Amino acid sequence: MSRTIIRDCRVWDAGGAAAYPADVLIEGVRIRAVARARGQLDGTGAEVIEARGMTLMPGLVEGHAHLSFGKAAATTDLGDLPPEEHTLLTARNAKLLLDHGFTSAYSAASAKLRLDIVIRNAIAAGQIPGPRLKACGPEITVTGGLGDERRAHMYRESFAVIADGPTEIVKWARLCCREGADAIKLNISGDDLYKAAKGEMTVMSEGEIRAGVEVARDFHRKVNAHCRAAESVKRAVRCGVDVIYHCEYADDKALDLLEREKHRVFVGPAIGLPVAVRESLSALNAEADPQVRALVDRGFEAATRTYEQMRKRGIRVVIGGDYGFDVTPQGANARDIEHFVKLLGYSPAEALVSATRVGAELMGIGDELGLVREGYLADLLLVDGDPLADVSILQRRERLVAILQNGNFHKLDRDALARRPVRRAAGE
Ligand SMILES: [Zn+2]
Repeated sequence: MSRTIIRDCRVWDAGGAAAYPADVLIEGVRIRAVARARGQLDGTGAEVIEARGMTLMPGLVEGHAHLSFGKAAATTDLGDLPPEEHTLLTARNAKLLLDHGFTSAYSAASAKLRLDIVIRNAIAAGQIPGPRLKACGPEITVTGGLGDERRAHMYRESFAVIADGPTEIVKWARLCCREGADAIKLNISGDDLYKAAKGEMTVMSEGEIRAGVEVARDFHRKVNAHCRAAESVKRAVRCGVDVIYHCEYADDKALDLLEREKHRVFVGPAIGLPVAVRESLSALNAEADPQVRALVDRGFEAATRTYEQMRKRGIRVVIGGDYGFDVTPQGANARDIEHFVKLLGYSPAEALVSATRVGAELMGIGDELGLVREGYLADLLLVDGDPLADVSILQRRERLVAILQNGNFHKLDRDALARRPVRRAAGE
């Protein structure tokens, strides 16, 4: 069994305590010991990494991953991509996320039925690098909903599959389960990108949602949902959906429902995309369509108001911002942590907990992932600097000096370690 000692680091363990100096022993895939009394660990047969006061923290968890999305400028781009190229793109994105410190990812949806599933399996088998992955099926949407790209005279593939009525929903949900998805995705509200079903419309019926949830329960899978409108959030909670994304127009009643179910439900604002769209509209300046700008601003302002409430009510919120569009390149996912701090009222520690411990709970293994603690899986980052003082350093790859997954080094920048002046973690 491999043994590694990370000596003289500052541990931020995501358990609520301030960072503290320690030595950490990793054996095989797990953290064996976290010793606050330094120099006490038995180093027999161990590789010793001198961390010189760098921060050791849990690996990041992307809570709204779309590994099969890449540089999409229009939503139709994803449907146009053939399956072979699409599989390669998804594999490249998986490596990119791990390179940026995301040791786990919970998929919000896959652009084709089996993309997440084959990539998850290849990562788990050690065939390709990538985050520990929970796979989702494609977005299941109703005619006219988010992801229906067809016209009356023209069929068109997209990232979604179209199902109307409980029978068709059941069929698609069972197909996702048969092929091995960990979760199914239901698009309950519309989206302002689409002509018919707007973001504040709730277009999937309660009967349709219940049909999908029932299948997922039978197969012991999770249900994710796209919900912008207040009514869509209420329907999702009432029908037993597990992970509810966006929720920006949630009203008090919807927030009350979420709070009541907060030990079961997760939410994610997916704030990265609206922020990036606003930035790109500002860059366009006067050329930006004022109607589009007003719509984007309205959604963004609703999100900032709503997530202030989510935080106060103790609802579990994960990071993840729809990375994979042209304005949100894969790999930039840690921007979401900074957005939580600057835009949603989170403290740096709260945002980092969302990005680690809460994400691990979403992965379904919160009892062995997401903390720097004895017995936990060794998915860890060694960071040059203090992310609690400045969360934006996590966006800089060169600051991630080591990335460990299952106790193995995906990255170990020995030059960066050697360059660092000798300084004790305690700062004396
Ligand atoms: Zn999404």
